[in-house]
Amino acid sequence: MSTIPPLDLKRQYQMIGAEIDAAVLSVLASGAYIGGPGVQAFEQEFAKYVGTADAVGCNSGTDALYLALKILGIGAGDEVITTPFTFIATAEMISAAGAKPVLVDIYPDTYNIDLNKIVAAITPQTKAIMPVHLFGRPVDMTALMSIANAHNLKVIEDCAQSASAEWAGQKTGSIGHVGCFSFFPTKNLGGCGDGGAITLNDPAWSADARMYREHGSRMRYYHEVVGINSRLDAVQAAILSIKLRYLDKWTTGRQEVADRYQQLLANIPHIMLPKPTPAPGKSAWNQYTIRILDSADGSRRDAVRAKLQEAGIISMIYYPLPLHLQEVYQDLGYKQGDFPVTEEVSHQVLSIPMFPEITAEEQERVAYALKAAL
Ligand SMILES: *Cc1c(COP(=O)(O)O)cnc(C)c1O
Repeated sequence: MSTIPPLDLKRQYQMIGAEIDAAVLSVLASGAYIGGPGVQAFEQEFAKYVGTADAVGCNSGTDALYLALKILGIGAGDEVITTPFTFIATAEMISAAGAKPVLVDIYPDTYNIDLNKIVAAITPQTKAIMPVHLFGRPVDMTALMSIANAHNLKVIEDCAQSASAEWAGQKTGSIGHVGCFSFFPTKNLGGCGDGGAITLNDPAWSADARMYREHGSRMRYYHEVVGINSRLDAVQAAILSIKLRYLDKWTTGRQEVADRYQQLLANIPHIMLPKPTPAPGKSAWNQYTIRILDSADGSRRDAVRAKLQEAGIISMIYYPLPLHLQEVYQDLGYKQGDFPVTEEVSHQVLSIPMFPEITAEEQERVAYALKAAL
C-alpha cells in the first residue's frame, strides 16, 4: 500500500518537468544567474496576475514581510496587529523590523483573525494590521479595509498561503497596501527552492523595496539605509514563470479535491470540516484542515493522526503551539487563556493530504481511514 503524502510535488514535476528542465537549462546556459530579464519578466507577470502595478521579487516570504514593514516605515515604538495562529514568520518579521506584534484571536471556523476583536487592540502606537489568509482562505478584506481606513492604519497582507485566492473579485495581495508572497515549494505557487515577492501599487514604495533588498542601495556601492540582501534568482524566476501559467488550473483542481472531501467526510462523527468560503470569497485551498472535536488537550487528534499514519496517510498539524505561548514571545506578556479560540483550535486541527493531483481513490482511502480512526 503506497503512502499518501500531504503534498506530492513529484507528480507535478512529472507533468511539467520537460518545460521546467528546458527553462532551467536556458538560464544555466545564459550565464546570468542573479537579476536580469527573466526576473523582471516574472515580476511583471506576477503583478499582472495579482492585479497590482508592480511586484518586487525577493528571497522568501519571510523577507517579503520584512521588506513590506520597512517600506512602510514601521519600526521601533510601533505596534502591528496580527494573529497568534500563523507561521512564526508573520510576527517574527514585525519583531525583526523593531516593532511589537499585538495579537488578536481568530474565528473558530475560518481560523483567520477575528475582525470584531481588532478595534479593541488598536492603540496610539498601532501602525498596521497584518492579516494572514490562512490555509488559502481569504480574510474578509472589505471589512478589514474599512477598519484600517477608519483608524488610518496600513494593511500588509500575508499571502504566503493564498496565491490565487480572491475576495470580492480581487486577488489577495492586491487589496491591502502591500501583499507578501512566499514561493516556498509547498505554497500554491512554489519554486524549486526559496523565493518570495511583494505586490503593490505605489511606485515610490516599489523603488524603496528594490533599495532595501539591495543592501539599502539605489546606486551600486552607495548605501542610504541598512538594508538586506534578498534576491529572487533567475533559475527560480524561470521556474515560477512557467508554474504561474498553471496556477489557476491547480486552484480549480484543489477546489475539486476540497469538494470531494466535503462529501466523503460529511457524516463522520467528532470532526468539523472547513466551512465553505462564503461569497464573495474564493479559497486557494493551500491546506484542507479539519478539526478533531472532543480533543481538549490534543490527545484525541494526535491519536487520529497516528492511526492515519499506520494506514499510510501523512497528515500535518498547522500549528501545534500558538505564537503567544512560544518561548520566543514570552516577553510580550501574554499567558495561557488569552486567546481561547486559538488555543482550542491548536489542539484540534489536522491538515489532510491536499494537492491537485491526488486521486479520488486516494481521497476515499483518507476518508475510510479517518472513519476507522474515529
Ligand atoms: C510560509 C509562510 C511564510 C514564510 O514564507 P517563507 O518563504 O518560508 O519565508 C510566512 N507566513 C506564512 C503564513 C507562511 O505560511
